[in-house]
Amino acid sequence: MKSAIRQRALELGFDDCRFTTAAPPESAGKFQNWLIGKNHGEMQWLERNAEKRVEPEKILPGVQTVIVLAASYAQRDSCSVILDQATAAHHESRITNHGTIARYAQFSDYHDVLGERLKLLTKFVDELGGVNARSLWYVDTGPILERDLAQRAGLGFAGKHTNLISRKLGNWFFLAEILTTVALAPDAPEKNHCGHCTRCLSACPTDAITAPFQLDARRCISYLTIELKGSIPVELRPLIGNRIYGCDDCLAACPWNRFARAGKLMEPHARTDLRQPDLTKLLGLSDADFKSRFANSPLLRTKRRGFLRNVGVALGNVGDESALPALQKAAADSEPLIAEHAQWAIRQIQGRLI
Ligand code: SF4
Ligand code: SF4
Repeated sequence: MKSAIRQRALELGFDDCRFTTAAPPESAGKFQNWLIGKNHGEMQWLERNAEKRVEPEKILPGVQTVIVLAASYAQRDSCSVILDQATAAHHESRITNHGTIARYAQFSDYHDVLGERLKLLTKFVDELGGVNARSLWYVDTGPILERDLAQRAGLGFAGKHTNLISRKLGNWFFLAEILTTVALAPDAPEKNHCGHCTRCLSACPTDAITAPFQLDARRCISYLTIELKGSIPVELRPLIGNRIYGCDDCLAACPWNRFARAGKLMEPHARTDLRQPDLTKLLGLSDADFKSRFANSPLLRTKRRGFLRNVGVALGNVGDESALPALQKAAADSEPLIAEHAQWAIRQIQGRLI
């Protein structure tokens, strides 16, 4: 049954498919301590469903197996320049008036793309499992410690940057899971393969990786530009560079990316218009423009107010004099969050002009 499921998963376009039991992940205690230490910042949803997150039985009574799936979002042109990504990111951050968006977000929304295939695979599992089989799928859509289950399933290992790395796919892939009452033999777990490497720690612009395997989300640019709803701390703004949605630096620095390969599922959904957007144009988006410009993309998550806040910060860091008219307009925006960050950006640019 396992090989039939794996085969079907690969046919559907997933790049890997592994199996583990539904027992709570061994790292459940560490996760609880991470929450107690308030390292999750404003991500209250992590607290609200912490109990379910560490115990799959609380999500699906009778669950026996977690099927873990990977879908690569590496793009062909990114696979050949893997080792020098950190330098490339640094170089990009100097491009005047242009922003950088995390690679995973430069596609149509992965929830939709993967969700379609997960529905089909879940149906397949239920059919194989017989009349009493029950299964449900997640792609970042439910409370589950997916990274740790994926490591236990042997799909990859948690690197010192705290993200999952696959020895077959590098760092650029999405994870998804199917929880099922069908009992299937678990695969062998994966172990850490970081060795003496510390590239990701050195690459992090904000020192958010406070020690190997420890992330202070409150300093992480992905958190600051996506999850944080309010004002970005002033002392962290200059470190954000031109990143307007997420950050790839620790992933890009990882030598395991030499094994990255473009995946079948995501590649047709790449959005080249999100590669290096013009920041001054973005700053002029109305609410309706924002929704239509980023329709079906993960960028909608921040809403206009969070996104234009980020654009303001990026222009404050990499903008030149030509960005001032757009910033002056944004500085009078009826949304105070946007106005405040635009005013900060104007002061930054004017400071550079002196
Ligand atoms: S995503 Fe960026 S800011 Fe966050 S830990 Fe990685 S390198 Fe640091
Ligand atoms: S960059 Fe090095 S230390 Fe960091 S996750 Fe990759 S292998 Fe591990």
